Parts: sequence; structure tokens; C-alpha cells
Amino acid sequence: MKNLFLILTVSFSSVACSQQQEGNKSSFSPSDKIKKSESEWKAQLTDDEYSVLRKNGTERAFTSDLLNNKKEGLYICKACSLPLFNSDTKFKSGTGWPSFYESINKINVVEKDDQSYGMVRTEVLCARCNGHLGHLFTDGPNPTGLRYCINGVSLKFQEKE
Ligand SMILES: [Zn+2]
Repeated sequence: MKNLFLILTVSFSSVACSQQQEGNKSSFSPSDKIKKSESEWKAQLTDDEYSVLRKNGTERAFTSDLLNNKKEGLYICKACSLPLFNSDTKFKSGTGWPSFYESINKINVVEKDDQSYGMVRTEVLCARCNGHLGHLFTDGPNPTGLRYCINGVSLKFQEKE
């Protein structure tokens, strides 16, 4: 009887543990989407953040504080705090915009065809608030060969504790 109790305890704690890991993945379900009016976004964001995140703008090259940030941590969405990129996938691209060779996962970061300005590009967006982050190119380094060219103004850095 004592053994049975032990088994139950062990299996319960492993379930609890797997739920914990689920939470740590930082993904979200589509029902968590954030929708705000233009005036609500304007009130929450600075002019620069608004023009990039909500109006698909591009910040001036070499202006982001995060460009040369080499600290370990997470890059999260400035508008809704959804985790988007890990510091260990950041690399120096020389383009003047923070660059990553991989997104945190394919759920949080959405890739969409963009044919504006007569170019065929892939737009990168936050899946939760639909905020514009930047563009994806295929001239990145190993191991993916991808380059997520991201406006620093659409990101917030969360240093690893
Ligand atoms: Zn967001």
C-alpha cells in the first residue's frame, strides 16, 4: 500500500512538472490575440514605436540601443510582451538593425508575404498583437541561413536573471 502511494505521488509530480514546462515555452494560443483600436495603440506606444509596429515603418539604421546588445536574455514584443527571439540567435549582420538567425518559435513569430514597394519580401510579425517587427531574408548565417532583420524599436529586452 505504501508503494502504491509512492507511485501515485511520483506520477502526479511528473504531470505537474510537464505543465510547468508547457508554461515556460512562452507560446500562446490564437484565442490570446490582442486587438486594440488605433487610438489605444497610439496612447500606449511612442510615435516611433507606433509607426513601426502599427504602420509597418522602418527605423533608421544604426539607431537602436539593442543593435550592439550582447547580453543574455529574451527579446519580447514592445507592444504585448510576447517572447520573440532568444539572445543566442542574435548575430552582427552589419545592416544597422538587430538581426537574428532564428525566431523563438513558429507560433509566436508569424511570417507573411509582403509585396509592398514593388519588392517581394517576407514580413515578420508578432502573432499576438499583429505588430510589424521587420523582414526575413535568406542570406543569414548557419545553422539556418536566415536573417530576421528586426526594428529594435519593436522589441524590448529582458535580461536573463
Ligand atoms: Zn506583440
